[in-house]
Amino acid sequence: MSELSERFETHAPGDKLAGDKLRCDACPVMCYIAEGRTGACDRYGNFGGRIVRCDPVRLLDYAVESGAAVVPFGGDGWDGELVNTTRRFVTAIGAGTTYPDYKPAPFIVSQEVEGVDLVTVVTEGIFSYCGVKVKIDTDRHLGAETAIVRSQGEAVGHVTTGEYGSQMLSLGGVHHLTGGSKSEGRVTCDTLLELCNKKAVELEIEGGAKVVVQAGQPPVIDGTVENRMRVGCGSATIGMFASQWRGLVDEVVVVDDHITGVVSEHQAGKVLGWEETGIRIIGRRSTPGRYFKVSEPGLGWGGTTISDPLAILGEWNPKKGARPGLSLLMVSTTGEQFAYYELDEALAPVAKPFPERLGKSVKLIEENCEPALCTVLFVGGAGGSLRAGVTENPVNLTRSVQGLKTYVTVGGAPVYVWPGGGITLMVDVLNVPDGAFGYVPTPALVAPIEFTLRKDDYLALGGFAAEIRSVDDVVARGGEYFNERSAGAAPARNPWPPLAQLRRSQGARP
Ligand code: SF4
Repeated sequence: MSELSERFETHAPGDKLAGDKLRCDACPVMCYIAEGRTGACDRYGNFGGRIVRCDPVRLLDYAVESGAAVVPFGGDGWDGELVNTTRRFVTAIGAGTTYPDYKPAPFIVSQEVEGVDLVTVVTEGIFSYCGVKVKIDTDRHLGAETAIVRSQGEAVGHVTTGEYGSQMLSLGGVHHLTGGSKSEGRVTCDTLLELCNKKAVELEIEGGAKVVVQAGQPPVIDGTVENRMRVGCGSATIGMFASQWRGLVDEVVVVDDHITGVVSEHQAGKVLGWEETGIRIIGRRSTPGRYFKVSEPGLGWGGTTISDPLAILGEWNPKKGARPGLSLLMVSTTGEQFAYYELDEALAPVAKPFPERLGKSVKLIEENCEPALCTVLFVGGAGGSLRAGVTENPVNLTRSVQGLKTYVTVGGAPVYVWPGGGITLMVDVLNVPDGAFGYVPTPALVAPIEFTLRKDDYLALGGFAAEIRSVDDVVARGGEYFNERSAGAAPARNPWPPLAQLRRSQGARP
């Protein structure tokens, strides 16, 4: 018998006890856990003859005045008492799950805000339908659209449509979690968990690059850290800097996988009076001075495969202004690659030392580039039985969320709820306190979720009136799973959810 199977066994629903083991009923796995051990997800254990949620319920502390310094709930000078004068919020982090929600959510907490009674319903949701959208700020080609993304050799998602200056991945989802092999589901769950908890994960894109992704950190593409995202496409770069180059050089080409720009032909150059140079770009001309497909996508200049920019130039035309001595600047959209040429007697560009007069403009491109980062958005469907822990009539919660009467947060972080049916939410994991996400081996991700609404609205939608408690009571007595309470400062950029809800119900910005 393995160490893991000694720790827990899974059974169909039945007795709460099997020998000296207790059954955890917080997810469909229903582990039987021996005294002093934890279950398969390590979130619940059998301690002292009762099932205990091993992590503490996380309370967050918010500054009272907007813009004022956040006072840590358990910070310097804290005397150990869970009492303070700042705003508190009981998050669902560590709260536990009342799966399958035949009973009310673990915590239903009331607070009065500016004379209005508000209720927050707190639970750790089990998300079988979930994934992450990853935005990677880079022009470099990571892989073709729809290419499979692998982690630890397993398919965990795919490349999706790129955005302006960024490549996008769509990872997870129910098909990878539960529709493939056991290993695919386990690795997908593990990958999502690491990404949501802001850890670094190495991903391999079929036919493309290896990239290390970590929320809030620069991507590492094939072993190279990406420092900057492009200032814009080649055409936009021409528009931004054409006036700076006027009088300093005869021609400028901004090399870009999307749109390569040529200043003498571009509208911006024409307006400024740039003269023809007889340049010819090998690519598909879109509009004057804007060229598509000068190369295949790659890891070279401006996200192309190019290492020698002259490769995209054809013959120079003397009838259209080409002449010996004509000067040419070629630069990438991040300003990281640049070169200077002059035409010789045969109208062939010859590389020359980079002139000082152009250094400032190239530096300006670099300065205008933002730092390249990875962004991880958790996307989950808070449907199904989770809603039954909030109200006796689950569809009422969906309608209340869609009607903006209920404000949804994940670990106190504001979420975007997709329009249309259901409660499909999206949250930036950087706004969520550390270590907020967990998993169960079904496999599925566990994410904290809180619903905040006016108390009268809560009662009207069939809420569990008898279960409503004060924050102080939660602090003093804890909950069904006997876990500890811990406190810490809320991420400074998140609004206090009860106030955010109140402002929204009053038609103001939170
Ligand atoms: S996997 Fe975790 S939540 Fe699920 S039954 Fe086992 S211990 Fe409980």
